[in-house]
Amino acid sequence: KTFKELGVCPEIRHAIEALGFEMPMPIQEEVIPYLLGVGNDVIALAQTGTGKTAAYGLPILQKIDTEKRHTQAIVLSPTRELCLQITNDLKDFSRYIDGLHVMAVYGGANIETQIRSLKKGAQVIVATPGRLIDLMHRGVAQLGHVENVILDEADEMLNMGFSEDIDEILEGVPQERNTLLFSATMSKEIEAIARNYLHDYKEIVV
Ligand code: AMP
Repeated sequence: KTFKELGVCPEIRHAIEALGFEMPMPIQEEVIPYLLGVGNDVIALAQTGTGKTAAYGLPILQKIDTEKRHTQAIVLSPTRELCLQITNDLKDFSRYIDGLHVMAVYGGANIETQIRSLKKGAQVIVATPGRLIDLMHRGVAQLGHVENVILDEADEMLNMGFSEDIDEILEGVPQERNTLLFSATMSKEIEAIARNYLHDYKEIVV
């Protein structure tokens, strides 16, 4: 199938063609039409390099209402490096969508600068969990209208001790949302997150 057949909009197709994406990768074939359609929760067991960022990124970006400035999607990732990489990818994918703002927030960088940027409004926030919590406590990250939460490299986030932060974030977003969990490995802790926070999820292994 082509990206067009999966339901990807012309603006995003234009952007990914420029990146050299010709055909969808297997995880994209499964995740993209699912999220653009019924759009329930997802657990995907997928390593880096499988195309997972576009698998969740393209449908999430396509569903953003650019008329509204509030945060509609958050992506959690374990490290600053991954956070910046995802942000870069999402900005590339949404290059031709006017008024769509993706912002990275991560620890170890000046928080005042991030606060100033965040106050301008970002429909998509890509964050490391600790820094996002900090910004939530300061009232700058407002997650009351979040519709999609992506946990990228969930196993790594748990390994790094972000379990409580993830709990707090998932309890601070609306119940009526979709949660997408990407992990290279399955574990008891991942199963616990799934049990506590995901509903009617589709499980994908690539
Ligand atoms: P990821 O697993 O998200 O880190 O993606 C791995 C690499 O594959 C990245 O460099 C992507 O830009 C690239 N990529 C993702 N989807 C496609 C596609 N459909 N065709 C060609 N390259 C892709």
